[in-house]
Amino acid sequence: MMRRITSALVLATSMTLASSAAAEDTFTFEPAGALAPTSGTGREDDRVYVPAMRFPIESGPAYANSQVWGHGGNSGPKGSGQCDAENYSYPWRDNYCESRSWAMPLCPSGTGHQGQDIRAATCEKDVHWVVSASDGTVTNIGSYSVYVTASDGTRFDYLHMSEVTVKEGDDVKRGQRLGKVSNQFGGTPTTVHLHFNIRQNVAGVGFVFVPPYASLVDSYKELLNPTPPPPDPPPTAAPAAPPPPKEPTSQELPAEPEPEPQMVDSGCASAPASTSTGALALVLGVTVAGAIRRRAGRRAAR
Ligand SMILES: [Zn+2]
Repeated sequence: MMRRITSALVLATSMTLASSAAAEDTFTFEPAGALAPTSGTGREDDRVYVPAMRFPIESGPAYANSQVWGHGGNSGPKGSGQCDAENYSYPWRDNYCESRSWAMPLCPSGTGHQGQDIRAATCEKDVHWVVSASDGTVTNIGSYSVYVTASDGTRFDYLHMSEVTVKEGDDVKRGQRLGKVSNQFGGTPTTVHLHFNIRQNVAGVGFVFVPPYASLVDSYKELLNPTPPPPDPPPTAAPAAPPPPKEPTSQELPAEPEPEPQMVDSGCASAPASTSTGALALVLGVTVAGAIRRRAGRRAAR
C-alpha cells in the first residue's frame, strides 16, 4: 500500500534525469516538504539556499530519506532493517521538519529535525567519503559532528562521521574529504547515514537552520550529470616557432685542452734598442735603394 502511494507521488512530482535508465536507477525525488507519512508537517520550500553547492558525499548514488521513519529506524516499519533496499532506492524524501523537539522557526510546527539524513551508495559504514559542500573553515569538532563555516557566514554541519580528516581551524576546499559516512553518535550508535545541516542568517528570523533539500537536489543532479566545462579557446593561427637548434651540453663538448705553459723571456720585457735598430736598417735600406735608382737613371740618360 505504502509502495503504491509512493509510486503515485513519484509520477506526479518527480523529475526524470535519464529516461533510458531502469526505473530503479533513475533519480527521482519527492517535493520539498513532503515528509514520510506520520513524521510531521514539512515546509514546502524550493529555495536553493546555497547555489552551486557541492553534494556532501563524494560519489553517487546517495539516498536522502528519514533514518528514523525509514526501514530499521525507531519509528520505521516493524521487523525492518536499516540496510533494506527501501532505504537505498529513490525517490528522495525531505526530512528537515520531521518531528523533534528542537526549535525550528522555519518549520510549520515551530520545531523540527534541523537538517537532512542522507545514506551513501551502500549500507557499509566507514567506506564512503563525506566532502565539504563549500570552501570554509572548520569551526567546531564535536564527538560526532564537524562544522565548516563559509566566508559568507553559512555553516555546514556534518554528523555521525568516522575517520575525520580535519581539525578545528583548518581551511577546507569545496569537495575536500572530511570523514566517512558512519554511525557515530557519541555513544550508542545511530544508523549508518550522514546528517547534514545548513545554517544561515535569515532576515527577520536570525541565524537558523534553513531547508537544505533543494540545495541537495541541485547539487546531486550536478554530481550525477556534471555541467560540461566551457569549450577550449580556438588554437592560435600562427604555428608555434620551431625550437632553437639544440646546444650541446657541457658534457657533450670535447674537453678543452689545458693551455700550454708559455715560455716567457724574463728580463726582456722592453727592448727599445732593437726597435731603433730596425728603424735604422729601414732608413739605410731606403737610402741605398734610392742611390741605386738615381745611378741607373743617369746611365739610361746617357
Ligand atoms: Zn538526522
